[in-house]
Amino acid sequence: MNRRNFLFAAAAVAAASQFRWVERLSTDKTQASDLAVQGFDVVNKGLSEASYSEHLNWVFDDPETPVPFRSLNRVSASDPSKAVQVPFAGEPNLTKQHGTQPAAQLLSNLDSHRASQSLLSSRVEELIEDGINHQSDHSRALDETPKATEVAKSIVEKVKNFSINYADDVFLSQSDQVLLDSTLNRLARLQNVTGFGNFNILGFDEALKFAKSFSDVGEFTAQELAFIEQIFTTDARNYGFFGEKVSSQLTDVISKDSVIKVPGSGHYLFKEQSLHHYDQLVRDVGEDIVLTSGIRANVKQLHLFLAKARSVNYNLSRASRSLAPPGHSFHGIGDYDVGKMGMGAANFTDAFADSDVFKRMADLGYIQIRYMQENTLGVRFEPWHIKVV
Ligand SMILES: [Zn+2]
Repeated sequence: MNRRNFLFAAAAVAAASQFRWVERLSTDKTQASDLAVQGFDVVNKGLSEASYSEHLNWVFDDPETPVPFRSLNRVSASDPSKAVQVPFAGEPNLTKQHGTQPAAQLLSNLDSHRASQSLLSSRVEELIEDGINHQSDHSRALDETPKATEVAKSIVEKVKNFSINYADDVFLSQSDQVLLDSTLNRLARLQNVTGFGNFNILGFDEALKFAKSFSDVGEFTAQELAFIEQIFTTDARNYGFFGEKVSSQLTDVISKDSVIKVPGSGHYLFKEQSLHHYDQLVRDVGEDIVLTSGIRANVKQLHLFLAKARSVNYNLSRASRSLAPPGHSFHGIGDYDVGKMGMGAANFTDAFADSDVFKRMADLGYIQIRYMQENTLGVRFEPWHIKVV
């Protein structure tokens, strides 16, 4: 499917889901007003241009998980190639690339994995403490002990080739894969109920409440909740992500008073931390810069992370190389993503770094990127991600 056809397909899915939503609202006014009371803009959730663009934005805010959720049920865990129904940018064929799948390291059996990884973890902790993970200070890494340098090099190598499997990658156990599927599907239905824009800032407690009150979503099961808790509390370093945890509690909330929805984008920014920064960026760089992802609370990041994990055959390490696990996203505290209008999904690829928008940003000194080309945090290069905090 080429990009144009994909856009039409995405628009069709968006339109269909909006129709369903509007229909339900008209027959369930109690729930609608319940949403409204909690600060959600439900009355404007018809087929307006804004909500339509929200859907498209959602499709694009994580292009490596490009399949709208209705298609996800068709994804076969045993056949990763089926996870991709629109072109993946540079995604290699796993079996061709490696010959055989590496033995799965099961998250439920992390103790033995931890033992084999303890050197890595402790050395990286030291590296972080020493400050050599600072993106501008890679030269110091070369002066460290050979072991530390080796560890840092291994992480940098994985960051550069983030979308392949490595022998020490951590996979979910089969029982957790089943839980991931049911949790992900429920989160997708929840997003459909709240609207893609509102879902960005939905708190976990609100999520539980809505799931319970909307029969289309259904209450999270005890097993799903335990699984979510496990994903949120497991030390992400165990599977190779070394970024900071910026939200310590799954239930951390984003105050609706502290945020503003950026017109036409379907995304929110913090009034204090980010809005002025973004407005100035648009004034300086020009109107063809767009906000492609703003605030993402824990529930939204959880949804993106689980979708990413499923799209890479439940490889948590590989998922975390291109998407911060929930609790670790700086989108939760002020960072945001930008793109060039009209570039669509390519905004989330290295192609953005070649765009005139990016070059203007660089010339104007706006480029303070969170995840550089070579970093020891375990995250791919993201030229579109703007570091604010
Ligand atoms: Zn980002």
